Amino acid sequence: MIELREVSRIFHVGGQEVWAMDRISLTIAPGEYLSIMGPSGSGKSTLLNTLGLLDTPDSGTYLLEGQDVTSLDDRQLAATRSRKIGFIFQFFHLIPRLTAQQNIELPLLLAGVARRERTERSTPLLEAFGLTARRHHKPDELSGGQRQRVAIARAVINRPTVLLADEPTGNLDRHSGTDIIELLEELNQRGLTLVIVTHDPEIGERARRQIRVVDGRIAADSRRN
Ligand code: ATP
Ligand code: MG
Repeated sequence: MIELREVSRIFHVGGQEVWAMDRISLTIAPGEYLSIMGPSGSGKSTLLNTLGLLDTPDSGTYLLEGQDVTSLDDRQLAATRSRKIGFIFQFFHLIPRLTAQQNIELPLLLAGVARRERTERSTPLLEAFGLTARRHHKPDELSGGQRQRVAIARAVINRPTVLLADEPTGNLDRHSGTDIIELLEELNQRGLTLVIVTHDPEIGERARRQIRVVDGRIAADSRRN
């Protein structure tokens, strides 16, 4: 369960205050599939970064699975993030000099997991995501869709409970984009909470619950059956 209570994030730009999140309250149940849409600059990425513990609120409370994460220090935040959260970005954020498999295993390497267990855990993911034949390729030797699949595999290798995606198809053609969304939906069907930020209404409208953010506030929150 994710619960934001009156969370604000204020940036100071040239002597002006920008309320990227303006007292947002939002509850997301385990296993939900939610999309966030809204104009450019409305605060979608700030909201997603906050949910993913990549950004810290200036006020309000964030309860993640019952734990108040607003009071954690940096080390505790990093530990909670790596245990519970998977994050995917528009520009993939892969490490260029590592192979697909090494990129996928990176969170395990950083956590000190031994090589043998790393391989045992990455191999089925490579297989499930159609990357086995590409496992020794570096990111610039992969297509956009393959790069995003590597990024998703890396995001889920620690078995997070929440998967957050900021414009995951923003850099892909329609066909690869649909593939990626279907892959994310499959992970959601297996129980992962899925939150997707998108500009693309066709993608946003696939989600069971749709949120519209305007000027740092939730302007609409609708569900379809
Ligand atoms: P887009 O659709 O273009 O990605 P967005 O809805 O994701 O936009 P955010 O990136 O969350 O919007 O930004 C919300 C507001 O906060 C914007 O006005 C932006 O300029 C401001 N903002 C975001 N990050 C920062 C920052 N690090 N420093 C200053 N202002 C910021
Ligand atoms: Mg954004």
